[in-house]
Amino acid sequence: MPQTYTHTFDTPVYKGSVTFNTGLFIDGQWVDPVDGGDRIDVVDPCTGKVITTVVAGTSKDVDIAVAAAEKAYKTSWGLKVPGVERGKLLGKLADLVEKHSDELAALEALNVGKHFHVAKMADIPLAVNALRYYAGWADKVHGKTIETTENKMAYTRHEPYGVVGAITPWNFPLGTVSFKIAPMLATGNVVILKPSEITPFTALYLASLINTAGFPPGTVNIINGYGNTVGEAISRHSSIRAIGFTGSTLTGRKILKASAESNLKKVTLELGGKSPTIVFDDADLEQAIKWASMGIFFNMGQACVAGSRIYVQEKIYDQFLQGFTKTAEVLAGATGGPFEPGVQHGPQVSNLQFERVMGYIKSGKSEGAKVLIGGERHGDTGYFIKPTVFTEAKPDMKIMQEEIFGPVCSVVKFKTEEEVTEWANNTTYGLAASILTENVARAIRMASNIEAGSISINSGPSAEPNVPFGGYKQSGIGRELGQYALDTYTQVKAVHINLGQKL
Ligand code: NAD
Repeated sequence: MPQTYTHTFDTPVYKGSVTFNTGLFIDGQWVDPVDGGDRIDVVDPCTGKVITTVVAGTSKDVDIAVAAAEKAYKTSWGLKVPGVERGKLLGKLADLVEKHSDELAALEALNVGKHFHVAKMADIPLAVNALRYYAGWADKVHGKTIETTENKMAYTRHEPYGVVGAITPWNFPLGTVSFKIAPMLATGNVVILKPSEITPFTALYLASLINTAGFPPGTVNIINGYGNTVGEAISRHSSIRAIGFTGSTLTGRKILKASAESNLKKVTLELGGKSPTIVFDDADLEQAIKWASMGIFFNMGQACVAGSRIYVQEKIYDQFLQGFTKTAEVLAGATGGPFEPGVQHGPQVSNLQFERVMGYIKSGKSEGAKVLIGGERHGDTGYFIKPTVFTEAKPDMKIMQEEIFGPVCSVVKFKTEEEVTEWANNTTYGLAASILTENVARAIRMASNIEAGSISINSGPSAEPNVPFGGYKQSGIGRELGQYALDTYTQVKAVHINLGQKL
């Protein structure tokens, strides 16, 4: 029998007990893997100690989940269910997530190491808003009527794929799950979801809410497990017709390859980034410092849109650097666990991430960049790294080209708009960019000239459920969120009608 786990929080910022099942969620039931299966240690990033274990599925469990999903698609979901009914269930799920936002925020904080208040005010509302947004779309997915000749017309249907896969990362676990399942379900698909093995807690809690909301069994199936087993099985499964993935560019390539070698499933990839923050000398300096700081240090730099290259125009460079360093010092002074009051900076999610980020800091130093602040771990337990600011970084250094995914940035002086545009575009990524200037014409010109899927003018990176999100270049393929996600998870059928043309 799959085991439940109860975590009791007795902390200054949250008190309560939260229970979730650690098994596989298939056909609306909690089950063990057919092979008995290994268990995956889920680790507290503040201490490095195991919190609990969850089961690890295999490709056999994916097969069983796909069979359950196919049955649900044929009998109780897909276009069998009117959009308005699918929307109602998504709306109920949004309400339940909102109602249980304390429990979900506590689990997210425990598992990822982000502060409880941040999870409560940012992560959970984002998930609720995405579910609600797509609840509204569920009965508004329709095609077009197209006039052809006098005696002929055509219309299009936007049909679901059927069984679709969702594979998600650990940095915004519930947010990325919601960004996928909400449009998938709204458009009539049934889902096989694999959450990150590092952060499965909120997805497992969500499974019970999916049942409570009244979704037919098999519409959402959740298979915990490792990428190279469960993730690979989903990517290669010949009955899974489309896949939505968020994660690293390296894994994105593997998924695309698996799709190419199996059934050519439609693949949507939301991948990594190396986003520039560009501060012109006419920007509101105080605001620019705050946005740039949030742009890189939010979620301890573990954001795909993290502004890890900060370009500042020469006239204000020294002043910016002074203010920016102070902000980083304040964060460093407020480092701690997710349930301590007043904490603004937490740990990296895992030992692997900690080692990766420390490796980049080492490489920056050895390639000749100068550490202005930070550059080392914080304390001696857990995976804490001090907010780190490099100066004197050169464009071809690893810290300027590769995604670090930690609280590490480089601040670089620029002279002209042309120069900074060229530098900003000089990586293989193209996910996001922030432009800070009071000159509207320049802001709009820059927004056109920067190669990225998402541009923020006079703020840090942004993501809203009703605005499309995705990458240029090696930051991804396709779009999530907004109305665009309805196209992502539907296929278009053209129906031609002869109104009297005779041969
Ligand atoms: P990751 O690629 O290591 O893992 C992401 C997911 O893919 C996990 O569930 C993992 O188990 C699974 N996976 C691993 N190998 C697989 C394989 N061979 N086949 C199928 N699935 C496999 O990424 P991560 O470390 O969890 O997350 C960090 C990365 O995610 C960063 O590069 C970040 O930029 C990116 N990210 C992108 C966005 C975006 O929207 N563009 C958002 C968040 C994170």
